[in-house]
Amino acid sequence: MELNNYGLARARMVREQLEPRGIINQRVIEAMDDVPRHLFVEDALQNQAYGDFPLPIGEGQTISQPYIVALMTQALELKGHEKVLEIGTGCGYQSAVLARLCDKVYTVERIKSLHIKARRTFDRLKCLNIVCKIDDGTLGWPEYGPYDAIMVTAAGPHIPESLLDQLADPGRLIIPVGDRLGQDLLEVTKIDGNISQRCIEKVRFVSLIGSQGWGD
Ligand code: SAH
Repeated sequence: MELNNYGLARARMVREQLEPRGIINQRVIEAMDDVPRHLFVEDALQNQAYGDFPLPIGEGQTISQPYIVALMTQALELKGHEKVLEIGTGCGYQSAVLARLCDKVYTVERIKSLHIKARRTFDRLKCLNIVCKIDDGTLGWPEYGPYDAIMVTAAGPHIPESLLDQLADPGRLIIPVGDRLGQDLLEVTKIDGNISQRCIEKVRFVSLIGSQGWGD
């Protein structure tokens, strides 16, 4: 595909995959229309980057389907001033979408090779408001908390206590929770010290592996 055809593919992705399924937040739509998803996957997969499916990113991990990225992002209702924590950097695509919509993104990845590749892509695309590190993200990133919003892009058996502790009040956390084969995508809200949650979609994510996630 020629270079500027990726822009067309992105516009079509928004029109055919996102808007008809209820992605209506204009800022989210603009971010999805803007971030070059094909630059986050390996060369041989670039021409599939705007398809309606997840893609492998190496190390047995995947970049989520565009709709799921948009749905999770929209659920955070970002206005622009927020500090956001993401667990599971992967290829960095979700971080780059978030970075367009908030003040600063802190993102944690447990696999070194993915972290290094993502950091290279952030540099290349001049994503200056993303900081990333290699660690067990089930413990959050306490140094910079509390976070106005937290997004976990891997599925755990329960909501890690550390993440609830590091969530600001008011604050919102999106996380898939369930067993290894299928999960509920939970939207967890903290207001005046009270935690409530609702399921926004049935999903299937790769596993959240760590001290407050699944075992290795
Ligand atoms: N947001 C990513 C999705 C990557 S898949 C993207 O846009 O590409 C989920 C990622 O979570 C994987 O890269 C996996 O290695 C990572 N992960 C799993 N458990 C983790 C943990 N405890 N801490 C940090 N990252 C974790």
